[in-house]
Amino acid sequence: MFRLDGKVAIVTGGSRGIGRACAEALAAQGAHVVVNYVKGEAAAKEVAEGIVARGGKAEIAAFDVGDTPATEKAIDEIAKRLGRLDIFVANAGIAIDGLLLRVKEEDIDRQLNVNVKGAIACAKASTKVMMRAKVGRIIFVSSVIGEMGNVGQTAYAATKAALLGITKSVAREFASRNITVNAITPGFIETDMTHGMNDAMKEQILKAIPLGRIGGAKDVASACVYLASDEAAYMTGQVLRVNGGMYV
Ligand code: NAP
Repeated sequence: MFRLDGKVAIVTGGSRGIGRACAEALAAQGAHVVVNYVKGEAAAKEVAEGIVARGGKAEIAAFDVGDTPATEKAIDEIAKRLGRLDIFVANAGIAIDGLLLRVKEEDIDRQLNVNVKGAIACAKASTKVMMRAKVGRIIFVSSVIGEMGNVGQTAYAATKAALLGITKSVAREFASRNITVNAITPGFIETDMTHGMNDAMKEQILKAIPLGRIGGAKDVASACVYLASDEAAYMTGQVLRVNGGMYV
């Protein structure tokens, strides 16, 4: 079950954290994975080389999802060169925290540009390829924060809630083409993004998680593999929560 042999997957932000775990898990199931990054070339290379060392197929691709023309061009080139594109994991995202009264306009714009416009650019370019094949899987990595909100994360929450609207719209638009589109909403996951939290903050968060632990990137990657697989063929427009029960 859940094998992905012969399929091509692109994972944006695959060089670190949740994206890295998704790239490694998809490759372990047999997919040829393109590990996207924007700055961290060394980290992306390490991910791809690790996959190849374990007998899998991977390569790296630099593009900034906040740059729509560059993103569309890169996805088109990858699909042409590899001859197909079966799975797209729109994972790349940034969080710039700040209380509402102090939030800077440029930080709102940056988060909207990468998290929302970037995801739309990825969906547009990948559906173009998938439409011709009449099959495809798109997975957006949203967040529990988009569902429940959070102090100091108004702009980030807006971008992550937007992804849920995007998921449902793209799912409806491409269902007739056999392209399924779903979102994952991770809870608090141990990555560079959450690394900066002090112990007191982590204690506070732990109290809100019924399963009693902060999640690992692999917890999210398992959901990603499922949604990418043939076994998830009848699931589209859905939101899969991987949050330890913190929002039900
Ligand atoms: P992370 O450790 O900070 O990694 C972010 C990844 O995104 C890196 O690979 C980074 O590439 C890439 N990236 C950032 N901006 C990019 C851009 N403009 N174009 C292309 N790639 C870009 O983050 P994470 O915690 O794994 O989060 C991954 C996703 O999960 C995000 O969308 C985040 O909002 C979501 N999420 C995270 C959590 C959590 O608790 N960690 C919870 C819910 C949702 P470089 O290495 O090149 O910088």
